[in-house]
Amino acid sequence: MSTIPQIPMPAHVQAESMLARKFGKETVNYFSSSPLNRLSFLRSEHPFLSAALKHPTTRFVLLNNLAPLTKSPSELYYAHYEEVRNLVPEDIFDQSEEDIIKNYDSRKPHPLLIFLGLDESRTEGALNWKIYNGTPYFALDVTPKGSDEQQENAKGVIGAMEAKGLSFYQSRVVMTFSADEAAIYAQSRALADWNTRNTFCGTCGNRTLSVNSGTKRACPPTDAARLVEGKPTEGPACNTRTTISNLSFPRTDPTIIVAVISTDAKRILLGRSKRFPPCWYSTLAGFIEPAESVEDAVRREVWEEAGVTLSRVVIHSSQPWPYPANLMIGAIAQVSDPAHEKINLEHDPELEDARWFEIHEVEEALRVGVSPLGEKPGPDYKEGGLRLPPPTAIANQLIRAAISGEFLTGDKTSKM
Ligand SMILES: [Zn+2]
Repeated sequence: MSTIPQIPMPAHVQAESMLARKFGKETVNYFSSSPLNRLSFLRSEHPFLSAALKHPTTRFVLLNNLAPLTKSPSELYYAHYEEVRNLVPEDIFDQSEEDIIKNYDSRKPHPLLIFLGLDESRTEGALNWKIYNGTPYFALDVTPKGSDEQQENAKGVIGAMEAKGLSFYQSRVVMTFSADEAAIYAQSRALADWNTRNTFCGTCGNRTLSVNSGTKRACPPTDAARLVEGKPTEGPACNTRTTISNLSFPRTDPTIIVAVISTDAKRILLGRSKRFPPCWYSTLAGFIEPAESVEDAVRREVWEEAGVTLSRVVIHSSQPWPYPANLMIGAIAQVSDPAHEKINLEHDPELEDARWFEIHEVEEALRVGVSPLGEKPGPDYKEGGLRLPPPTAIANQLIRAAISGEFLTGDKTSKM
């Protein structure tokens, strides 16, 4: 059994405050609390990006078809500019963003390079820019694509990395990195994936161009490549260029996930899907729909999947989930009438089973029955006992909060 990574140390200031006294310590979930300051307002400042690109401390997270370059399944490898310069020309930020859009030529390579932020805790020899100081981080897509020359360059970078004994870690869900690296990888993966899926404008169908350090895509009004086809450089009119929404932005799909407590607060509702291993249960989850509040989505999902009618819903914490673009909003909810606890799986056949578990059974499972999906539980686990997701999953944190009572009674053991 591999070691389960820890959940993050909070990146925020933890201190006594009125809110902290009332609501207790904030739960920080795996993939959140990044060590990087994103400095989003510098994403279009090309002199800054140009300096960051070539700075000797700068670190590049490389992705090949979204698989991260690693030293081992639990450690990212950070490349230096020298190792990727064939893919990222030194002069890439010499023009302003406005000019890059104006001079767009779809035949020329446009590397997918994403500025992730500065690690302000790594200051030795770091980059100083105005009042900001730290080690710059970028993500770079090295997937071979585009012209033959671009593909050869990408394959060259991949080959050189593999020759060093590094590998692109292939896994549907990567949850083996330390908490800091998990947050850096989550940001890299989510943005690379969104860019890769949105290479054409959703309104006019022309090619789009990654701008704002990989966090927006523009629909350029002209393309010099059209000239060689004997067409005017100007493409068909596109109303994404004329309105305030003249760019497309990355998606984040909100999802609810909920630990449900019985009327007497002595049991908790968990469900299982067919793809789970035997005895494995988790909290219920589902997408928030357009024009629906988080609380309403929680009540709808639980009724649709389990037939249980909820009363009060309280938001607990959230978890970015970069597979591909979810934000899991974690809640704790309670049923207010025993008649509303009756389970019915016939509305929406999504779950194979849903059940009320006694608190002591859940406590035992948290002690001996947690493991990452696909791995065995610890040595104290007894066959047939309840199994639960690991602490890196928000489901685990919600279950803990719901059964400890700490979150619900306001009886805080920690004052932060
Ligand atoms: Zn367009």
